[in-house]
Amino acid sequence: MKKQSKRVKTKSKRLGVWIVGIGGGVGTTVLVGTHFIKKGLVSTAGLITETEIFKPLNLVPLDNLVFGGYDIRTETVWENAIDIQRQTKTFSIEFLNQIKDDLDKIDNNIKFGTTINCGETIEKLATAKLEKNDMPLYEMVKIIQNDLISFKNKYKLDNVIFVNLASTEPFNEKFLNVPSANSLEELEKAIKEDKRDDLPASTIYAYSAIDCGFPYINFTPSIGSETKAMQELAIKRGVPHMGKDGKTGETMVKSNLAPMFIYRNLPILSWAGFNILGDRDGQVLSDPKNKATKIRSKDRILHNILGYSTYVHTAIEYVPSLSDWKTAWDHIHFKGFIDTKMVMQFIWQGCDAILAAPLILDLIRMADYSKSQGEKGLMKHLACIFKSPIGIEDHNFHNQYQMLMNYVKKHSFKD
Ligand code: NAD
Repeated sequence: MKKQSKRVKTKSKRLGVWIVGIGGGVGTTVLVGTHFIKKGLVSTAGLITETEIFKPLNLVPLDNLVFGGYDIRTETVWENAIDIQRQTKTFSIEFLNQIKDDLDKIDNNIKFGTTINCGETIEKLATAKLEKNDMPLYEMVKIIQNDLISFKNKYKLDNVIFVNLASTEPFNEKFLNVPSANSLEELEKAIKEDKRDDLPASTIYAYSAIDCGFPYINFTPSIGSETKAMQELAIKRGVPHMGKDGKTGETMVKSNLAPMFIYRNLPILSWAGFNILGDRDGQVLSDPKNKATKIRSKDRILHNILGYSTYVHTAIEYVPSLSDWKTAWDHIHFKGFIDTKMVMQFIWQGCDAILAAPLILDLIRMADYSKSQGEKGLMKHLACIFKSPIGIEDHNFHNQYQMLMNYVKKHSFKD
């Protein structure tokens, strides 16, 4: 009886999704893909929450999602979708025409964000006038929170999930070490006193959402909700959050393969990975400061899985003609019986946004579920979806996947 009433509630629930970077490759693919699925034009391939094991959780149906968000460019959703169609050919133009009205409606829910402490490369992307940049931090937070609450009220939403899909911010150790990173009291003081050199945009966004009680997901390698202060805030406000950096391509393969070498006692002598990609994400990552954030996120996992130090090289190069089609070539040099050296190589070719978008939908549904269960703080069971899962030291994909399965099973037999 109890189970049935819960299902009815989920089915009628209206869930808001507020995406920072909504006009980007991944953001646009989330919008287009969701509407293609809603219209029955494509399957739900790629979505883990559509597999049988998740059924007992009665996650919010994709039909009930309402989208809005921030960007720093002025293109409409339709213009972005057509641009992706031309560049990657992943969307059928015939299908796009069938969802044009739905995409046009989302434009009403898009506002301009902030590029505070995002560095020159990201600032140069902006074609919109970013009024938030000129506001003191406390004013900026208030406006962002007003945007979120107005969105919730306008569509009578039961909940809003805040997702960071913006360009990768440049790596700056300082943001992890300033007093405002280490305690909530200091963070709130920094906002009140407008210490604008101490917080990147990703953290301002995360603060605004979590402080309002909205679950937060960071799919980018930027700092977002990673700091101790932000984790304290999430617990205090009773909000689930998780990040960072989606694990969608080369790193996913790496974290699946590396355990195999451990299981069979085949010591790895070196692991060299070369990634080439085009599009805006590739362009931003061609700036060494922004690239450092990504490489830091990619490199950690091997040493952790192997439990010993080995030679690791990761390269990311911008090749504009590839657009969103990314290629990774990995060369794994390992040792076997009688110290014989052998090689494994793999080539991974995927369309980045197509790999990422279904995971965003999975994360949104799972974040909403966590909130409905009264959970707060890090959603560690989602570690297998992130390259640098906050609060998780074990990077073995198989163990991380098991954590997710354990969570789903535990909740399936709850009522
Ligand atoms: P993209 O460059 O196509 O899109 C980023 C969007 O964010 C752009 O529309 C840009 O205008 C907007 N933006 C930049 N700074 C902003 C800010 N401060 N506020 C609001 N909007 C801002 O990139 P993408 O390919 O869509 O990837 C999005 C993010 O996801 C990147 O950080 C990327 O590293 C990360 N990521 C992607 C994948 C994947 O695509 N498979 C995997 C892991 C992580």
